[in-house]
Amino acid sequence: MSAYIPVELQRQIRTRFFNTCAYCRTAERLTGMTFEFEHIIPRALGGETRFENLCFACPNCNRYKADRQTEVDPLTEQIVSLFHPQLQVWNEHFAWSDDGQELVGLSPIGRATIVALKMNRSQLVWARGLWVKLGEHPPKWE
Ligand SMILES: [Zn+2]
Repeated sequence: MSAYIPVELQRQIRTRFFNTCAYCRTAERLTGMTFEFEHIIPRALGGETRFENLCFACPNCNRYKADRQTEVDPLTEQIVSLFHPQLQVWNEHFAWSDDGQELVGLSPIGRATIVALKMNRSQLVWARGLWVKLGEHPPKWE
């Protein structure tokens, strides 16, 4: 479901997330794709179109997240909330593998979000390998 997002609000969201997916941290400019503005709490569940409820997301993360709010943590098998890019700190829930190609979940939320959004999908892991060789990955922010 798409919603009108004023240009100034789009600019603020892009700046907040450095033109990078708020979940998998893929940089938009490396992909050749146009990233999307995602409602963290879905509109279908009452989420509003405002800064605090929006993030920048690659088309894959946005599609896999859809209206999901929870997932099972594969380690503890508990149902937990997905990562909230505006309220939670990415580095507290995710880290990069030593080779920079895979995301590692540091918390139940991180692990569950990696599963739900397929953040280590094989095509993306392969592409990250190229970006590492180019010195463009992992992204350096925070
Ligand atoms: Zn993503």
